Amino acid sequence: MKAVVALGGNALTGKKREADINKQFSEMKKTAGSIARMIKNGWHIGITHGNGPQVGALMLQQKAAMDIVPPMPLHVLGALTQGEIGYIIQQCLLNEFKSQGIEREIATVITQVIVNEKDEAFKNPTKPVGPVYSSTEAENLRKSYVMGKVEGGWRILVPSPKPLSIVESEIIKGLMESGIVVIAAGGGGIPVVRKGNILHGVDAVIDKDLASQKLANEIGADVLLILTDVERVCINYGRENQEELEEASIEEMEEYMKEGHFPPGSMGPKVEAAINFIKNGGKRAIITSIENAWKAMEGNAGTHIHR
Ligand code: ADP
Ligand code: MG
Repeated sequence: MKAVVALGGNALTGKKREADINKQFSEMKKTAGSIARMIKNGWHIGITHGNGPQVGALMLQQKAAMDIVPPMPLHVLGALTQGEIGYIIQQCLLNEFKSQGIEREIATVITQVIVNEKDEAFKNPTKPVGPVYSSTEAENLRKSYVMGKVEGGWRILVPSPKPLSIVESEIIKGLMESGIVVIAAGGGGIPVVRKGNILHGVDAVIDKDLASQKLANEIGADVLLILTDVERVCINYGRENQEELEEASIEEMEEYMKEGHFPPGSMGPKVEAAINFIKNGGKRAIITSIENAWKAMEGNAGTHIHR
């Protein structure tokens, strides 16, 4: 059985999304225990992850050092974070496997994801990346970026096009089926467009939950497990009449979606990914917290979305 496990920001950077390296190793150590549990129970696993805090830190470094070294475009920064985070996950998992006597190998695959250059998202950047800037800094940055007002200041907004397909999915599938734990599509993958036979990178950030769903379907995963920082998806989230969902059909989820229970920047893409996964042949999508990953796989935690 194959599962794609999507790790949210808190898996590596904690609730406060701190990109500090010691924090990333210590958080990932905790997450590694949950993954090891799945491996021990016979699952073949592909791991995907977000990269918000890490790519934000790299953007700052590009800006601070631009007079000394040429700044790299966003798609290259995406590739850099896949290497950085892949390394952290690989090492933490290997250490965990060794300590538990699990004999499994791990590989990170630099992953490109095809997007449509005519995607409406390119005309209307909505995805905030990098640090929060003051009004004066934002004024300066506006020459090169679209800036958006957020809590406490301004952030750079980049397009977030829909993922169409995963360039390396056959390699990832082959590795997973041979028992190797694969880390792929990090940060939603490196966005590329195809012109004839030529691929080239574009400056955008793909949603990691939607990219994880594409990968899960393309490799024929049985389960898409989205790990975040809440145990269950709720309706009326944060309100008095909040209600946790243990299970729901895709039709029910679509109805809740229409009613506005899942905001675009956070729970929305997870629910959309879960629905799309099932519609495209997946058996079960689960959304839960990292701590509850195995309990949810056994059916005793999380929100289960099914046909
Ligand atoms: P990740 O880094 O895992 O993608 P996000 O912050 O993007 O994390 O999404 C998870 C967050 O979504 C939760 O911490 C929660 O505050 C928020 N959220 C919004 N709507 C809901 C909902 N309906 N049910 C549960 N959580 C929700
Ligand atoms: Mg998110």
